[in-house]
Amino acid sequence: ADSADATLQVTDVTVRFAGLTALDQVSFTVEPGSVHAVIGPNGAGKSTCFNVLSGVYRATSGSVRFGGTELTGLAPHRIAALGVARIFQNLALPPRATVADSLMLGRHRLTRAGFLATGLRLPSASREAHRHLERVREIADFVGLADDLDRPAGELPYGKQKLVELARALCMEPKLLLLDEPVAGMTADERRDTAAVVAGVRDSLGISIVLVEHDMGVVMRLADAVTVLDFGKRIAGGTPAEVQDDPAVVQAYLGA
Ligand code: ADP
Ligand code: MG
Repeated sequence: ADSADATLQVTDVTVRFAGLTALDQVSFTVEPGSVHAVIGPNGAGKSTCFNVLSGVYRATSGSVRFGGTELTGLAPHRIAALGVARIFQNLALPPRATVADSLMLGRHRLTRAGFLATGLRLPSASREAHRHLERVREIADFVGLADDLDRPAGELPYGKQKLVELARALCMEPKLLLLDEPVAGMTADERRDTAAVVAGVRDSLGISIVLVEHDMGVVMRLADAVTVLDFGKRIAGGTPAEVQDDPAVVQAYLGA
């Protein structure tokens, strides 16, 4: 795909709830193949920003363009179909399904034959199912779940369950991945492993990533660019090093 197709352009986005401006004229650009972190104290508007990008909330004003397509007003499934995959902060896996089944669900939108044809065991459908299973194995291998494909996802350690979610999103073959606090609740080892997988998603697969994350170590190591929000406003932006030394950012975190 043309890399210009994967630029995310957020322009002057405002989100108002009754009596409260959760996002106030926020703008930033996510370059193709980069990790862009959105940080800020509690209540800054990070989750609201994600909800706008994935179509759960609609911006009161402003524009969100992905590869030249206006996303504002599109339903979440339409945005997903354009190649924007979202991983939620809390686990959303069917607990009894195996890892392989959970990942096959991620390929659902790419399946042409449909489940009826698969159920009837039509040869074309089984060929397609086989192709999807091959890709599921590749992706499981990529995130380090190759040995867990036949285990119920709900029985895996928390860190691995989060990797299943990441792998399921990758199974949609996205161009842009929205990660909401991917290492929250993880052990130090799980954090390190997950950060390495996320870096690999960018470096090996060329997928752009918007990352909301509280762990500053992860942000500083992974992000190519950072947008800092406070009380719904963009108060700083730049490389991790630039943002880290910005007095407005220091003030926002100390004042929180
Ligand atoms: P963050 O994720 O940075 O902690 P949020 O985006 O969740 O911040 O919240 C930003 C502000 O918007 C907060 O004051 C929050 O209470 C408010 N808010 C978020 N979602 C809603 C909603 N659906 N209705 C009303 N207020 C909301
Ligand atoms: Mg939040």
